[in-house]
Amino acid sequence: MPAGSMDDLLIRGGHLIDGGGGPGRDADVAVRAGRIAAVEPRSARPAHRVIDARGQVVAPGFIDIHTHSDFTLPLNPRAESKIRQGVTLEVAGNCGFSVAPALPGKAAMLREYLASSATWLPFHETTFTDYAAGFPPTSVNVILQVGHNTLRLMTAGLENRPLTPDELAAMERLLEEALAGGAWGLSSGLFTAPGNFADAAEIHALARVLRRRHAAYSTHVRDEADRGFEAVREAIAVAETTGVHVQIAHLKLSGVDNWGGAARLLGEIAAARHRGLPVDCDAYPYDTATNPLRNLLPRWVMENGIPAMLERLGRRDVRTRIRDDVARNGLTNFGRIPSWDVVRVAISPHLPENAGRTLGDIARSRGVDAIDAVADYIVADRGETRILITSMADADVHEITGAPWVTVGSDGNALATSGVTGQGKPHPRYYGTHARILGPCVRDLGLLTLEQAIGKMTGAAARALGLADRGVLRAGAWADVAVFDPARIGDRSTYADPHRYAVGVSTVVVNGQVVVDGGDHTGALPGRVLRRGA
Ligand SMILES: [Zn+2]
Repeated sequence: MPAGSMDDLLIRGGHLIDGGGGPGRDADVAVRAGRIAAVEPRSARPAHRVIDARGQVVAPGFIDIHTHSDFTLPLNPRAESKIRQGVTLEVAGNCGFSVAPALPGKAAMLREYLASSATWLPFHETTFTDYAAGFPPTSVNVILQVGHNTLRLMTAGLENRPLTPDELAAMERLLEEALAGGAWGLSSGLFTAPGNFADAAEIHALARVLRRRHAAYSTHVRDEADRGFEAVREAIAVAETTGVHVQIAHLKLSGVDNWGGAARLLGEIAAARHRGLPVDCDAYPYDTATNPLRNLLPRWVMENGIPAMLERLGRRDVRTRIRDDVARNGLTNFGRIPSWDVVRVAISPHLPENAGRTLGDIARSRGVDAIDAVADYIVADRGETRILITSMADADVHEITGAPWVTVGSDGNALATSGVTGQGKPHPRYYGTHARILGPCVRDLGLLTLEQAIGKMTGAAARALGLADRGVLRAGAWADVAVFDPARIGDRSTYADPHRYAVGVSTVVVNGQVVVDGGDHTGALPGRVLRRGA
């Protein structure tokens, strides 16, 4: 250290858990110019600011490896619901959905397609390069991915057919442009249109582009219910065939017929990893999923676009066909459910008074059958309804959450309790995922140790992403740090009352700047879009 110079920050007196999964130790963390300058016991380094971390845990900032915060960060750059849990990096653009590229004349179509997810976001025509370059400063760091659904929408709309060679070439060019312009990789959402119209060959062709560009692939697999094992094998085959890193998103077993399969499903992924394949997965610690309501219906319902779907859903013969399909196969993506009382309206842009009501309740109060109630609802809400569906077994969620090698993704957006993103009744995971693991899952349920929990949200996530200088507390790494009280940390967001911040996190540092100070947001926006090789 040059004589007379001072560090920016010294986080002193805390119990350091460095993200490697090993035991903690008492040590101080010195920060200078955005990076960690030193990690040493009882440091005497002078600093402009000393933060007292006595009685608290000091950890690398948490990595939320699977989010949709690209839908909300431009509206909520302070990333309140995430940063207050100690999240310092959000990986966005998941499940095949990205808001760029939006080719000339196609921004309105993309807005309509994403309205049940990106409800309040304005859409503009843009290349991916311009989108990434214009992404606003935020409190968290951000990784952006380009979505396969978006690319297919730009190329072939919502048509249910294989791409022509020219269309595939056009899609490869759009992917190349996105990767050159700042996309970390490609995400797919093969569970819904138009991603589900793509076969394995289309995905492998795009994965070969990723391989050439040293980029990665993440996937919401083709099915998370009755054909979930097949779908996970399809994802593993992408790694096996192309060598590209594959991130399997929000691992789960939906539908009562699939409950109890978590150990076997984890075993398949672990076996692939043991064979040396670059495969990771992530999960959130809740038994309830959230999705557009329309995605519960058979996939053919969405063919040729949202207006076509809305027209179709009004027809009696279509409803009969839906009723037969659901009776035979269960719900698309979610399998068989005990009743429509496990499906609850979360966000309903055109019928906001229904947030919190179940579809079972809505059907009973109208004296109609559930499929009529669902079809009518989708039409009345213009296809934009978002629901919560309790479709998983606790035992499976606990098994997956307890695996130290499974990384953590909220699958949620950065929200705030006030302002435009504070509307409706979104999934509590948007506010509570990481705090819930560190609090209830570690402390109350004993699913894993605190060191393992921190390891899976930091070091393991950084390895999965190929980030060498984050997710770890050591000299030279970026200074992304979370300081929290291990006896107090926890989620407060519930299904009935979701807009509540987690508690127990006192200090959060992003790129060396203090964003949460004494539990309050400082307003600092030091986060940036991370780029490969930058
Ligand atoms: Zn997803």
